[in-house]
Amino acid sequence: MQIRPEIQKLYPKIKAYREYLHQYPELEYHTVQTRKFIKKVMEETKCDILQEGYAQEGIVGVYGKGKEKGILIRSDMDALPIQEKVKKETASKIKGVMHACGHDGHMAALLGLCEYLHEHKQRIHKPIVCLFQPGEEGAGGAKQMIEEGVLETFPCAYALATHLMPQYEVGKIACRSGAMMAQNAEVEIRVQGTGGHGAYPDTGKDAILAATSFLLEVQTQLNKRFSPLQEKVFHIGIIQGGNACNTICDSLLMKGTLRAFDEAIFQQLKACIMNTAEAIEKLYDVHFHFQWHEGYFSVYNHPQMCMLLKEAVEDSYVEADKQMTSEDFSFFLKEVPGFMFYTGCKMEKETSLHSDTFDFDEHALLYTVETYVRILEKLDILI
Ligand SMILES: [Zn+2]
Ligand SMILES: [Zn+2]
Repeated sequence: MQIRPEIQKLYPKIKAYREYLHQYPELEYHTVQTRKFIKKVMEETKCDILQEGYAQEGIVGVYGKGKEKGILIRSDMDALPIQEKVKKETASKIKGVMHACGHDGHMAALLGLCEYLHEHKQRIHKPIVCLFQPGEEGAGGAKQMIEEGVLETFPCAYALATHLMPQYEVGKIACRSGAMMAQNAEVEIRVQGTGGHGAYPDTGKDAILAATSFLLEVQTQLNKRFSPLQEKVFHIGIIQGGNACNTICDSLLMKGTLRAFDEAIFQQLKACIMNTAEAIEKLYDVHFHFQWHEGYFSVYNHPQMCMLLKEAVEDSYVEADKQMTSEDFSFFLKEVPGFMFYTGCKMEKETSLHSDTFDFDEHALLYTVETYVRILEKLDILI
């Protein structure tokens, strides 16, 4: 895919946006300076409507007028609580906070699109809703913005977003039809037994034994009751319990995550996990208390929209693999047909998202902007 000269010439601005945003990362919903920066660019690029206040620091700028439903293009805004290890002048200036998930790049690309739209205002046929959302990393800012009515105020027929992805080369745009990222939930499981002296195992109800038995059994149940083609992950990452080596542990806490692509399967997996716990309760005479914290839906890309992307980006297109990670853009995709695509940003030195060495070349963002513009043209939003 060739990048048109009008987008090429935006490179210095896009690079400068990314560099500023990277140096001043902010967490979760507290993206105050980030919002102010975005607002300034939107004002300079003369957006037709500007609205703040969604999910605290979210901000929306609309380019183009008209009553027809438009298109929503979303960028996340938040960074991660990570101490950056990249050694360069434009590295994070905020101790312990870093844009390690590329959201600085998503913002810079969308601001680049705002610049492009400013210069091509006469071509805008339907409203283009540029939405900047805080709280992607676990806080669920997308859900909150929707609950606060952003889609009622700005009704859209389509929704788009990108995520930088270091496993794809710069210049590649990756996507797949249907489920691309997983639905997730976190779970806390309290196992309650009764204590006693370790020398008299028959006098207590051992929570550690019950928990370990559950952990092994639940994987067997999940593997035997579900087809291997029904992709899933149930993982416990924390176990806390026990006080002394010669006591019977009366209570412990496990924390983990459940992930799957299909909503119905997700509910069945949950039921299977709880049923297994019930059987273990009887066997060990203990109690399991489950607390589920629902996460994000699966990122479901609309098949026809994906075809459109494939045609639009030509030889840049790569079929993406499904991933068990999650993204809260899925809440928008639940309401509005659309897709998320990956922008390739591979570097010579291998790195990954959420790593303290994550970095990318801003040239990758030109492909994001070109992709946005090509989609807008395909949909006759830019004519
Ligand atoms: Zn992330
Ligand atoms: Zn991210």
